Amino acid sequence: MSTSAEGVLSVEVPRGAFHLFTNLCKGCGLCKEKCPKDCLIWSECLGSFGTPAVIPDDPQNCIACGICQQVCPDCAILIERKRVK
Ligand code: SF4
Ligand code: SF4
Repeated sequence: MSTSAEGVLSVEVPRGAFHLFTNLCKGCGLCKEKCPKDCLIWSECLGSFGTPAVIPDDPQNCIACGICQQVCPDCAILIERKRVK
């Protein structure tokens, strides 16, 4: 995992990358509930209200499906998918 100066948590996953904008995450947990792999956990980094921000527990479990990005009401998650050649 890497953290940028802007507070973006980035994790490389087998099919792409998971990015979490900590200044947008309010810790509602909706993404955790909807992840089909149940792979999101609370991280040690804080979000916009001083609540924990989410992160994949094991990058190998994240399939870069993008559901967490779709359900986040605050656009705090960006999923990058690798192009398959
Ligand atoms: S990333 Fe979005 S859906 Fe997940 S806890 Fe943060 S605000 Fe809620
Ligand atoms: S991209 Fe899919 S598998 Fe990965 S954390 Fe989000 S919902 Fe879970």
